[in-house]
Amino acid sequence: MRDLVRATEIHLVRRPQGPPVPGDFATVARGIEVSPGEILVRNAFLSVDPYMRGRMNDGPSYVPPYQVGRVMDGGAIGRVIAAPPDSKLRPGQVVLHNLGWRDFATGPEAAFRALEPRPGLSLSTYLGALGMPGLTAYVGLLDVARLQSGEVVFVSGAAGAVGSVVGQLAKLHGAGRVIGSAGSDAKVEHLLRDLHFDAAFNYKRGPVLQLLAEAAGDTGIDVYFDNVGGDQLEAALSLLNVHGRVAMCGAVSRYNAAGPMPGPNNLGLAVGKRLRLEGFLVGDHGPRRGAFLSEVGEALSEGRLRADESVVDGIENMPGAFIGMLRGDNVGKMVVRVGA
Ligand code: NAP
Repeated sequence: MRDLVRATEIHLVRRPQGPPVPGDFATVARGIEVSPGEILVRNAFLSVDPYMRGRMNDGPSYVPPYQVGRVMDGGAIGRVIAAPPDSKLRPGQVVLHNLGWRDFATGPEAAFRALEPRPGLSLSTYLGALGMPGLTAYVGLLDVARLQSGEVVFVSGAAGAVGSVVGQLAKLHGAGRVIGSAGSDAKVEHLLRDLHFDAAFNYKRGPVLQLLAEAAGDTGIDVYFDNVGGDQLEAALSLLNVHGRVAMCGAVSRYNAAGPMPGPNNLGLAVGKRLRLEGFLVGDHGPRRGAFLSEVGEALSEGRLRADESVVDGIENMPGAFIGMLRGDNVGKMVVRVGA
């Protein structure tokens, strides 16, 4: 064992009550030790994701909580610096892994997934539109909601990492009309002008049911891709057509809540309208990655789909990027550049 490099990590030092604040994190420098047989990777981009807020709480969930005093791990992409002679990974190889919130990562070969990036795309795309959020959009829209040609789609969080891919994919798959909601007028303008949504509204500008009803007109909606929960889910339930489907992807409007939040007060509508509400986790859909990478990769390369990103520089700004993402500072995928 020997010190190879000074690495910087971001640790959780306190569990937040409500929205996270900078004092919940610490930037820690330490020497990286590479054990025999392990890979050393220099990270290029790190991901900040809403699910990480849930991992900061101490309680049962589908992913274990972060430990106080330990690094907060998460999605990352980088290049191999050193590998044992019998490894399939060679220096320079691009790898995806889950050892983020640090600039250098070490681990066994099984912790890293090699990939051949498409020419012309930033590596960060593999944390966003061509990564976990993109796959979430793909399987949620096509496999869970089972979008049919001509249908009306509503997606909340539409200017974010998942939502921006949902809306664009829906258009590419022949949706009759795509409606998006977002938290600022500038994001709404972006959805209409750059992502070619048919209608969009700022959910902060009035009662959501009224805003959604105006956007949907008299067609109602057939598919609701729910990224936020709360009053947007309630409004969608009111306006869904018979046999409508809800892909329950996340409830970011609730992640900072200190206690239990009320559910929609109109869930009973699901019976008469024969609605299907289905929660899903992207981790269950690995077998679809090949089809996803091929279809969405081609659409990106040919300019039929945009990979929006908000890039923050410097690992020390990781907590700020995360806090900012949760309050809506990002357009598209929020990533932190650490070594690209
Ligand atoms: P994102 O949309 O890129 O970023 C989070 C966004 O949440 C912010 O930009 C903000 O946009 C919005 N937001 C914050 N507070 C809100 C509130 N009170 N009401 C409405 N919107 C609010 O994040 P993402 O990575 O694409 O994730 C979107 C959703 O998908 C999250 O719920 C996440 O947990 C979920 N997800 C689920 C899976 C799965 O496997 N099921 C996988 C990935 C992600 P505005 O400016 O528009 O408010």
